[in-house]
Amino acid sequence: MKRRLVLLGAPGSGKGTQAELITRQFGIPVTSPGAILRREQDLGTPLGQQTAEIIQRGELVSDDVIVKLIEEWLRLHGSYGFVFDGFPRTLPQAESLNSILQRLRTALDLAIWLEVSEKTVHDRIGGRLQCRNCGFTTSVSSAKFAERPICPYCEGPLVRRSDDDETVLSNRLQEFHTKTEPLAKFYEKMSILHRIDGNRDRDVVFKDISRLIEQKSDA
Ligand code: AMP
Repeated sequence: MKRRLVLLGAPGSGKGTQAELITRQFGIPVTSPGAILRREQDLGTPLGQQTAEIIQRGELVSDDVIVKLIEEWLRLHGSYGFVFDGFPRTLPQAESLNSILQRLRTALDLAIWLEVSEKTVHDRIGGRLQCRNCGFTTSVSSAKFAERPICPYCEGPLVRRSDDDETVLSNRLQEFHTKTEPLAKFYEKMSILHRIDGNRDRDVVFKDISRLIEQKSDA
């Protein structure tokens, strides 16, 4: 199924989890600038080194860097549709995405906004574990570990993200409120915004998202 969609929402709203479910169910390719940059950091590339401190402060990486990553990804994989997890996060990024898609003679189908309370954000981020190898995300409470926390998919180590610390999180939330929230109006004007209650169980949220994806006709 070919769809072009963006997942928006605060840290911990479930973007990564839902993106993974979407790609598994519908085969739509997914990408996330945050995951790409963490991988670059692990590999010690210049891009990883340049952006590590910014990420660790909980600030947003520059629009230029992020848009270049997305443009390159679209060039390589974009013909099968996409799910963007955590992109766009600013108005200039959203405008750039529209221009890129216009050049490719296509357009976004859906902008899905996962709405969550501050309590949900703090509870989820406080208990989040992520696989260092494949990025699989789970929570301390839902995962049952014999001894060490190990990824059920690739057996990589499940660890806490270093930017999931409370002080960094407050900066990430600040960035979200000031720079990302204005995107709701932007996508509302394009008539593609769908707000979904992201405080609920992941499977219930996914049902709502699936319905939206299925309702869109193939293009
Ligand atoms: P995430 O994995 O989506 O939580 O992103 C982790 C971090 O990567 C963010 O806190 C930002 O520092 C950076 N990042 C990810 N996506 C973007 C984006 N679209 N624009 C700017 N910075 C981003």
